[in-house]
Amino acid sequence: MSVRDADVAGKRVLVRVDFNVPLDGGRVADDTRIRAALPTVELLRERGAMPILVSHLGRPKGEAVPELSMKPVGERLSELLGAPVEQAPAAVGEDVETLTAGLSPGRVLLLENVRFEPGETENAPELAAALARLADLYVDDAFGAAHRAHASTEGVAHLLPSYAGLLLERELSELRQVVESPRRPLVVVLGGAKVSDKIGVIDRFLDLADRILIGGAMCFSFFRAQGLATGDSLVEEEGVKLAEGVLGKAEGSSCELALPVDLVLGEAFDAGTERRESDGVEVPDGWMGLDIGPRTAAAYGEAIGAAGTVLWNGPMGAFELEPFAVGTRAVAEAVAAAPGTTVVGGGDSVAALHEFGLADQVDWVSTGGGASLELLEGKKLPGVEALQDA
Ligand code: ADP
Ligand code: MG
Repeated sequence: MSVRDADVAGKRVLVRVDFNVPLDGGRVADDTRIRAALPTVELLRERGAMPILVSHLGRPKGEAVPELSMKPVGERLSELLGAPVEQAPAAVGEDVETLTAGLSPGRVLLLENVRFEPGETENAPELAAALARLADLYVDDAFGAAHRAHASTEGVAHLLPSYAGLLLERELSELRQVVESPRRPLVVVLGGAKVSDKIGVIDRFLDLADRILIGGAMCFSFFRAQGLATGDSLVEEEGVKLAEGVLGKAEGSSCELALPVDLVLGEAFDAGTERRESDGVEVPDGWMGLDIGPRTAAAYGEAIGAAGTVLWNGPMGAFELEPFAVGTRAVAEAVAAAPGTTVVGGGDSVAALHEFGLADQVDWVSTGGGASLELLEGKKLPGVEALQDA
């Protein structure tokens, strides 16, 4: 059920948001996730509810770590909302209950980092109950955390009338659309470090997509499986077996599986290393493949331009090193310019899009890395399953 259909006026609404933002010297370095939660918070304020926001930040492992306090997040949220945001000294407890009891309609309270509580990641029933005592309703808007069954994402949802927030709802509909009714051809671009991270998605889309374009370090598991020399490239041993399976399945599939046809090599994972374009994909000893080559980038760009729907997850190379960002930039530009529906997910790919200033030219940029992969694999997300059905 959607928060849009909930009767929230005068109610205390516990909202699980994903404010797990990067910090830099006590300030929020990137406020994308805070902005993404604003529509739900604003809807609740407009309807006279009292939003009580809860999130995790980093990995404090069940104890209070001052550097991972939500304080800078609350300050930024207040600036973005143009309204005061009250901050609680903890996520639960008597003092917090006093604060929530004293709220008035339209006022916003931000709880302290919920992972300061040891029960959060264990999904402890006592913590879920303590969170439930703070509110009348529960809204989950933390898509990025929906694949984890934690006390604030799953446990508490069973204890209060529970609804999907606007962001969660949109994430689910955009990603489900790609799987269930994409405009064709459906082109899936996959990169990044490890085949094992993306194997579930590759496997599922071999049955669903028209083309899968592979880039990133994970292509070396495929090349190794094909008996090609990979030099000093990053090869995930477990990935070689998985890649063999994928190559076998692709043979009997109507989905075309494309691998790079040329590469950019370096001698070390270092921006200052010598950069050499290689026509072909065999990598000599002493060298490593750090990016897709220009012919591959052009071919992938063409496929992306001809797609009815594009799903992109995972950079094409070591894009953090400027000389090896060319292939990732080319794919990002092709996705941004593509006339089809474009969806991008994955922490590093999304970071790359922002770095290139192209995020606003994509139809949907997912806020969830792991959650988006699990949803695309066809797994059920515990944070979503626990909500009331419409
Ligand atoms: P996402 O977060 O978008 O899902 P991943 O986390 O799977 O992406 O992969 C991103 C990482 O993969 C980046 O740190 C990048 O440096 C690395 N990577 C991509 N291609 C290569 C390569 N050829 N060699 C080494 N590292 C690579
Ligand atoms: Mg990543």
